[in-house]
Amino acid sequence: MHGFMAGQHAFGRLILAAVLASGIAACKKVENSASSVTAESLANADTASGEWLTHGGTYDEQRFAKLEQITAENVGDLGLAWSAEFDTNRGQEATPIVADGVLYTTTAWSKVFAFDAKTGEQLWSYDPEVPGETAFKGCCDIVNRGVAVYDGKVFFGAFDGRLIALDAGSGEEVWSTVTVDQSKPYTITGAPRVVKGKVLIGNGGAEYGVRGYVSAYDADSGDLAWRFYTVPPGPGAKADGAASDDVIEKMRATWAGDWSEFGGGGTVWDAIVYDQEYDQVLIGVGNGSPWNHKIRSQGKGDNLFVSSVVALDAETGKYKWHYQGTPGETWDFTQTQPIILADLEIEGAQRKVMMQAPKNGFFYVIDRKDGKLISARNFVPTTWATSVDLATGRPVEAPNARFENGPFLALPSALGAHNWHPMAYSPKTNLVYLPAQEVPFAYTDDKAFKPREGGWNIGMDYLANGVPEDPAQFRALRAMLKGQLIAWDPVAQKEIWRVQYDGPWNGGVLATAGNLVFQGNAKGEFAAFSADKGEKLWSFDAGTGIIAAPISYTIDGEQYVAVMAGYGGAYPLSSAFVDNPRPMPNGRLLVFKLGGKAPYKIEPIENAPFNIVEQEFAPATVQAGMALYETNCGVCHSGGAIGSGVLPDLRRSGYLSDAEAWKAVVIDGSLKDNGMVGFAKFLSAQDAEAIRAFVASKAKLGAEQEKADGN
Ligand code: CA
Repeated sequence: MHGFMAGQHAFGRLILAAVLASGIAACKKVENSASSVTAESLANADTASGEWLTHGGTYDEQRFAKLEQITAENVGDLGLAWSAEFDTNRGQEATPIVADGVLYTTTAWSKVFAFDAKTGEQLWSYDPEVPGETAFKGCCDIVNRGVAVYDGKVFFGAFDGRLIALDAGSGEEVWSTVTVDQSKPYTITGAPRVVKGKVLIGNGGAEYGVRGYVSAYDADSGDLAWRFYTVPPGPGAKADGAASDDVIEKMRATWAGDWSEFGGGGTVWDAIVYDQEYDQVLIGVGNGSPWNHKIRSQGKGDNLFVSSVVALDAETGKYKWHYQGTPGETWDFTQTQPIILADLEIEGAQRKVMMQAPKNGFFYVIDRKDGKLISARNFVPTTWATSVDLATGRPVEAPNARFENGPFLALPSALGAHNWHPMAYSPKTNLVYLPAQEVPFAYTDDKAFKPREGGWNIGMDYLANGVPEDPAQFRALRAMLKGQLIAWDPVAQKEIWRVQYDGPWNGGVLATAGNLVFQGNAKGEFAAFSADKGEKLWSFDAGTGIIAAPISYTIDGEQYVAVMAGYGGAYPLSSAFVDNPRPMPNGRLLVFKLGGKAPYKIEPIENAPFNIVEQEFAPATVQAGMALYETNCGVCHSGGAIGSGVLPDLRRSGYLSDAEAWKAVVIDGSLKDNGMVGFAKFLSAQDAEAIRAFVASKAKLGAEQEKADGN
């Protein structure tokens, strides 16, 4: 039914054949691709040139296109110039790069594509053939956020931990290096950055039990130049021989017990930003592993550098300063969210600042010279902390925020007040455009916590977040989930305007000099708003949810706006509350220009019927199955077995009515190449059968409710 992986390699061969068949013209066209991107051109990158050379447009990562052909006045004439369909329906999170007339992007499963940025002709593609079973190692879909381009090469991280350099002209592999211990649950979803001839890359895995770090590799050879660990080696363990050695004791003083069993977390899975003025790299550091601070560090200590921004010397990778937004992190409050650099006038003085709106709900303005906090204000309701004390830089936590006296309903929560979805800053309006959201989560200690090697290890009792069966309760809970596009004044630390959505997990943002802000949303609408007032001026129905951020570029005097479309990632994988869930269509790359008239249509894919299992299960079995489901399955197949459509809705699965086939999938791993590994390490055959009983009960309930809804 969901054969999204089936035949992917065959598809790759078809693409290759198509490229070969397209012949000389394509070869000539790409001969000099990206060869003009040098250290100097990256340092002087300016979106006014019409290119989009780095992840955030320039090293400042403001995601501001200084292009004025498309404006608030004429955006109504914007139309599709061309589009491309990919061979996967999983989440599309990449920001494309445009250099020398070529658009480079990545898709789910870490595949790389190069297109003629004007015509949309595909020039080449590259499939790193990530093994399907590595999907199990990722919390948040097998996504990829894009490439870096430099010196005739295209660099990207593969989901299984490789950093790969391709020839920008041919798409052929130049070098490949494994950046992680592949026996551990490390993954790469983030985009590399190229700084002074080195390729910087981090990794993820803090829900499973890893130790975070960022690495710099020589762009020519792929040799490791330096590495910085964000969490110290365990008590008594020897130093790593890494750039972080100097600060091991500084870090260790903030930890208790033996945190090394779970690695401690602190993965650098998104923001890695080069600050040219101070020749430093700012890394955003993720949550602790496990989430629960009581398990990770006996409830003691700040746990440096979890949930921090750390400034590293760009040459050596050595520590310069840090700012920790969430000391003693215990809510999955990563601080790896996108970082924007800017010069702001604050109280009459020009300050070189970084701005960040991490998961914890506070918008931070920090002085890049020394990491000193200038200001912080919450941009959505925050139940875990009332404010940030500017004298100490620490949050003022609310009573029971650490759920020491029972469950705590937190807002924001693990999905974040703002997640990886890029924000943008316009130096014309002096506003930051922030894709924010409100998603609550009930935190409770997992009193029976036992480590599960390579598995989900967060130390929280998931059952506190059970999905209600009663439709009225379900709707009430659903109504609590919200999303916003917020225009934020970072100097005054206040909201100027907002677009309200009725759900979270909307797209990243682009601002342009044409007084425009572009953003796609979860429902597949790609829209332009006036940057000064937030008025919706134009929209396009993409037919599939958009989470990625748009870019803009110019070729032959025409301005284009491009965005990856395709819904997925942590929220739809884990949540029962995605509206109108149905199987996702394949992802698309959409490219617009004024007067564009390219045809476009996505046929909606209908759901299979609920699979009604005749067999009767004992209520106790169903109950046991629920606990097992929520702990083992719900994080990808959604809470309450109400699938979002990114992964198969198990209530509609053909395997549900066949105990043997179900066991073959769940225990023996017969679908491991699709990403569904066997759970023999974590579950018994009896457990699998109890989960089947639970899902079967949900299928019955789903059918009954569908009938009651008047079908
Ligand atoms: Ca996390």
